[in-house]
Amino acid sequence: MDKLKIAIQKSGRLYEDSIKLLKDCSIEINIGIDKLKTTALNFPLEILFLRDDDIPQYLEDGVADIGIVGKNVLLEKRKRIKIKETLGFGKCRLSIAVPKSLSYNNIKDLDGKRIATSYPFLVREFFKKRYINAEIHEISGAVEIAPGIGLADCICDLVSSGSTLFMNGLKEVETVLQSEAVLASHLHLDSTQNIIMEKFLFRIRAVKKAKDNKYILLNVSNEKLEKIISYLPGIKSPVILPLANTECSSVHSVVNENDFWGIIENLKALGAQDILVLPIEKIIL
Ligand code: ATP
Ligand code: MG
Repeated sequence: MDKLKIAIQKSGRLYEDSIKLLKDCSIEINIGIDKLKTTALNFPLEILFLRDDDIPQYLEDGVADIGIVGKNVLLEKRKRIKIKETLGFGKCRLSIAVPKSLSYNNIKDLDGKRIATSYPFLVREFFKKRYINAEIHEISGAVEIAPGIGLADCICDLVSSGSTLFMNGLKEVETVLQSEAVLASHLHLDSTQNIIMEKFLFRIRAVKKAKDNKYILLNVSNEKLEKIISYLPGIKSPVILPLANTECSSVHSVVNENDFWGIIENLKALGAQDILVLPIEKIIL
């Protein structure tokens, strides 16, 4: 039986979430001691564990068929590969940061500065578009210490909370890119590989959709029922069930995580009681 090869990060920030994604898609794997590759037990997938920087090249060459990698790495490497789906984890931004003591008004203040980064291509493009002349110093790690040791005046690096910048006396001044993990693929998969990838994507989308939504149950007295029904979206429309107490009904629906608290407040104002909120495992439409 043909298998699809997926490349995921061997260790690091994307590792746990990549493994969890497989698990949420009901794909079982045993991770061996050497952790170079493994085969899924119940899905035609072989998993290769690699450094994230190498994944785009392996995808271009077809050593791996699909892979999970940050958009930041993918755009920096500029390999000929296809993005199939954004995955909603590994969220961060590629940002420019300067020493706290530097007074910063706008991007022109970066003109003529030395900037240390592991993302020379993305930084060069960012400056080129804004007609800024900066001197780019490519370094492969610990970029945040560069200004402190006199290697550069400022940096461009990945940020999520900003605490690393803060600890190194830096402040974030410009965002170059918003990033998250994506599923990318080799450009020319054969038909069997395509079928397996589509099956995998189908599961990923069901899991993603479920994560974005919550199942809610509430009770409401019958005279307020109409208002609640017209307010609640639901996937098609809400479910209404009678209660043993015939003056009230139970309403079930699905609401989006993003507007969740707003919806709950409005439901309460419309007379909803005993609101229960449950996670959803998968949504298949
Ligand atoms: P490797 O050993 O595989 O080369 P690495 O050290 O280059 O790993 P990690 O620090 O593990 O990389 O980050 C992997 C990816 O996680 C990044 O490329 C980025 O897409 C994402 N990420 C999310 N949040 C952050 C963050 N705060 N800092 C760095 N990367 C982040
Ligand atoms: Mg790396």
